Order: sequence, then structure tokens, then C-alpha cells
Amino acid sequence: MRPGLPPSAPPTARDAPSTSSLPTPSCLGLDGFEVAAVIASEQILSPGRVLMLSSGGRRGDAARCRELGIAGFLTKPATPTELREVLSRVLDAPEGGEPNGELITRYLLKERPRTRRVLLVEDNVVNQAVAEGMLVKLGYEVCIAENGEEALARIGAESFDLIFMDVQMPVLDGVAATREIRRREGSARHTPIVAMTANAMADEREQCLAAGMDDHLAKPVRLAVLQDVLQRYAPR
Ligand SMILES: [Mg+2]
Repeated sequence: MRPGLPPSAPPTARDAPSTSSLPTPSCLGLDGFEVAAVIASEQILSPGRVLMLSSGGRRGDAARCRELGIAGFLTKPATPTELREVLSRVLDAPEGGEPNGELITRYLLKERPRTRRVLLVEDNVVNQAVAEGMLVKLGYEVCIAENGEEALARIGAESFDLIFMDVQMPVLDGVAATREIRRREGSARHTPIVAMTANAMADEREQCLAAGMDDHLAKPVRLAVLQDVLQRYAPR
């Protein structure tokens, strides 16, 4: 212990990590449900943060999951897409899991794909209409902000899976808006931001990335290119 520092308190349930857990119970000599029961009774994780990966589903598994507060259940092998989707559903919800407490299963992922919300920050009405048309066609819910300041207000009140950001806008431009979004997010969150600009110059791309954007698209944007970006940053 360094001088001047108070002795550290023993860890408590409150200090426990709130990240998801993928139990690997065999090394403990317990099955997954037994481990989940210990996690629940000892409050090792926040409620609704446990996902079960099982080598085979058995009758009654769903009921046991609900009893133990397990948020999701997948049989192995789970695909990377399934894992990513289950994790994002669990981690996006304040209490973990589905808002109505439903167990997330492969069936639920398939039958009820999540609506992805996109914020389109663009001052030109023609560009707004073109981009919105393509995004809706690809199955995304679109909100529009006409400049960076409007975008900051929207982001402060609701959450989005992806932001498309024009660079040149009145009031507050895309680069300044992005810097402010990243400042507010800190290390707690990272909403993907993709620049959509008329200027495909390399230095503009660098400027966008330096401000904290994740990618850059040159206008006019083609549907296939847009689809590719959506698949990368906010897959449905
Ligand atoms: Mg503009």
C-alpha cells in the first residue's frame, strides 16, 4: 500500500463487475444453473446480466433461467452475430435483458429483430430525403436533426444505434458536434458516428476521424455502400 492511501475495503457485492458473464462451470464442478444460482444468491453480478450458453436445451430450462434471473439462453454453437446481438440487448437495457423480462433466445432474436434507430444529422433537405429513403428501405428507424446543436439535444434525450453526420452545417458543424458527443460520452459509451460529406478529400476524412468519428462516406451515397456501413456499425 502506498503511504497516505486508506486501507482498501474488502470487496462487496456493490463492487462486483456489472458486465455480462458467460459461465464456464465445468472447472468448478458445477453445472451452469448451479453457478447461476450462486451468482444470484451472492449478488456477484447485477440482476439480468447473466447469459447461459448450453451444449443442449432441456425441458424446463427456460423456467429455470427465469427463476435465476438469467437474461439470455443460447445453445452452442452460437454464431458471432447471435452473441453480439444477445450481448447488446442485455447491455443496452438499464436492468439487463429485455425490458419486459423476457428470456432472450435464438428464437426471439429471429422472430423479433430489434428496431435500430439512426440519427441523420444533415441540413440539406434533399440530402435528408435521399438518405432517409434509403435507411427506411433498409429497415431502420430514422430521426433527423438539421444541425449539430439539434443533434446534441436529441442525443441528450434519446439513444441511437448509429449517427450519420454531415460536416458542413449552420449553427454547429459536424466536427464540433462530434467532439462534444465524444466529450459527453467519455469512456462510458461509444455511439458510432459516420461522416457523410460531399467532399471526399483525404484531409477531411482525417479531420472527421480525429474528431472522434468512426468512418467517412462520400456523398452521393449508394445503397450498397450504406448497407455495408450499417451492417458494420448497427446490424439488424
Ligand atoms: Mg451541409
